[in-house]
Amino acid sequence: ETPRGLPLRVLNLEKRFGGITAVDGVSFEVEEGSLTGLIGPNGAGKSTTFNCITGVHEADGGRVLFKGDDITGRKPYEIADRGLVRTFQIARELEEMTVLENLMLAPRGQIGEKLYRSVTPGLRGEVIEQETEIREEVWETLEFFEIDHLAEEYAGNLSGGQRKLLELARALMVDPDVLLLDEPFAGVNPSLEAKLLEQIHTLREEGYTFLLVEHDIDLIMENCEHIIVMHQGKLLAEGPPEEIRNNDRVIDAYLGE
Ligand code: ADP
Ligand code: MG
Repeated sequence: ETPRGLPLRVLNLEKRFGGITAVDGVSFEVEEGSLTGLIGPNGAGKSTTFNCITGVHEADGGRVLFKGDDITGRKPYEIADRGLVRTFQIARELEEMTVLENLMLAPRGQIGEKLYRSVTPGLRGEVIEQETEIREEVWETLEFFEIDHLAEEYAGNLSGGQRKLLELARALMVDPDVLLLDEPFAGVNPSLEAKLLEQIHTLREEGYTFLLVEHDIDLIMENCEHIIVMHQGKLLAEGPPEEIRNNDRVIDAYLGE
């Protein structure tokens, strides 16, 4: 049972690929409303941990608890439905659609369900009402990410950074409680990176919880209040930035890269 205030708990997670143990008995918790960072050198097992939490990989051992429920081994869409949402790279089919269409077609979570329940099948007027509400939500999101001027642009024509904004916007359409982002700043120019960070902080103030997987230790130090460090598949350290900054084991792990 996960106590309130701890939406996500990872217990003794294990994942092997052939002879490689990518995740080797990792346990940690993410507090509600926090911006938690998961860092570690390349190959530390961050992405594999992320993929086991979100149901992309099946773990070989351990458990993942979300809001008190055991979600180990659930499918990614089931996990997303519960409010634990990850970003996905814009797939090829979506590149051939506009930014607006990408958001209109994004899978809907609670909002969509609530609307769906209120719609009696066959009542055209209400279906149109639902679409109008979704459209309003989509425009608000486009404006929030300052990509409304790109609404009619094909997703395939966006810059690397603009794609990252669209990926995050699509994830928000699911109406999540917790957002997991794996290296959201990779290939993003510094001004867009600052903007993306600002938006993450704003969303966090609105009550969203973030788990941010990053290679860049400085970025995490400056933006997260709780940091989990992985090294060679294991949990190396955990704590607030000022503690992590001065942790000899963390310094050694990064120097040894
Ligand atoms: P990080 O995201 O911290 O850089 P990863 O989780 O991607 O690390 O990788 C951890 C280890 O697992 C690495 O040794 C990597 O080569 C291995 N690995 C990751 N994914 C796979 C896979 N699909 N098949 C085989 N080995 C993998
Ligand atoms: Mg990775």
